[in-house]
This record gives sequence, structure tokens and C-alpha cells, in this order.
Amino acid sequence: MKTIGLIGGMSWESSAEYYRLLNQGIRERRGATASARCILWSFDFAEIERLQHEGDWDSLSALMVDAAQRLERAGADLLLLCTNSMHRTAPAIEAAVAIPLLHIADPAAESIRTAGLSRVGLLGTAFTMEQPFYRDRLAKRHGLEVIIPEADDRAMVHRTIYEELVAGRVLGESRAAYRDVIARLVDAGAEAVILGCTEIMLLVRPEDSAVPLFDTTALHVQAALEAMLAD
Ligand code: GLU
Repeated sequence: MKTIGLIGGMSWESSAEYYRLLNQGIRERRGATASARCILWSFDFAEIERLQHEGDWDSLSALMVDAAQRLERAGADLLLLCTNSMHRTAPAIEAAVAIPLLHIADPAAESIRTAGLSRVGLLGTAFTMEQPFYRDRLAKRHGLEVIIPEADDRAMVHRTIYEELVAGRVLGESRAAYRDVIARLVDAGAEAVILGCTEIMLLVRPEDSAVPLFDTTALHVQAALEAMLAD
């Protein structure tokens, strides 16, 4: 088994899911006492969130590169960055280490293509929904047509992530609001919806949507399990 390096703590609520899903996946594949070889670097999210909202992506890049290099030195064979938003810094990470970074958008996009779908709604932070780094990867590398919510809906989705989900608050009223946003994406033509923030799976379930949901946390872990167990 290869050793996975997790760049996490963004937030720890979703990193805990990564840890649980990775270990469950190894148990299913390797037997009851088997568990995932992994190393976790976990940030103080308060610092990350402040830099994100200040737009200081140079400092964020430097922090992600430092974490990736620490994990590489500690013996990781491959890296997962356990957040969609911070994939804005993926090119800097890839340039700074010799081990592979499994990009979070790829397994989700590949699953959507395998399902024969191509018009997708995207939910995530404002950074993920509005900046080109994520949507361009889906469109240019995977040929997906990406639909994002209207401005008010984007603001609500973003606010819920930062004020509730990363703080461990999972509220029924927010689930209902997300359900409405998903319905509007479907009305706009979405055949599927990407849960493009690693905490949204704590809030939204398949029954909240009329179209298939593609959860980046679970699909990222699945891709990692395949890579960890490949010869
Ligand atoms: N975990 C989230 C994501 O997947 C949001 C927190 C962050 O900005 O890193 O984008």
C-alpha cells in the first residue's frame, strides 16, 4: 500500500470524513484489521479563511507548498488536497514536489462523463464557483458545461459553508435552502450537480436532488484508494 499525504484542516470537519472514508475503503478492500497508511498535515482554518477573504493567494500558495513539501519529506507517495477551493494553488504544489497530487475535480468529472452526462451544476465556495481555476478544468479538460447558481444563491451557499458547515453546524433550514438552489440549477439545465466543497456532503443527501449528485469528497477518496493500492 502506498502512503497518502493529506493536506487538510480546511476544514477539519471534512478532513475527518476523508480519514474515515479512507480507512473504511482500505478495510473493505483489504480486510477487517487493514487501515490506510496516511500522514495528515492539518491547518488552522482560521488563518486560511482570513487569507482567502483578503484575496492573498500568494500567501496561501506558499502555505500549501510548504505543507506538500513537509508531507513529501515525511514519506508520502502521493498527495490529496482536501478542499476544492484551495485547488487554485494546485499548479504551485505540483511544481514544488516530485510526488503526484490527485486533483479533486478529476474524479468527479470522470464519474460524470462515465454516467453519460455533460451539463453540470456546481456548488462550492464563491472562489470555486466564480473563479476560473475550477470551472476551466471541468470545461477544458473534461468537456463539461458548467452552470453556477445566480448571485444571491451563490452568496447563500458560500455563507452557509463558512458560517455553519466548517463550524460543525448542520441545519435543516440550510438543507432546505440548498435543495431550492439545486432545483433552480436543474431548471437551468443541469443534468447533475457537483458538490464542489468538501463539507457539503455533511448537509446535502441524494434525496435532496432530482438529478444525481457527485460528491467531491467521496470521489476524491475513491481515486486515492485506487492509487494507493495500484502496483
Ligand atoms: N472545504 C471547502 C472546499 O472544498 C471550503 C473550505 C476552503 O475554502 O478550503 O472548498
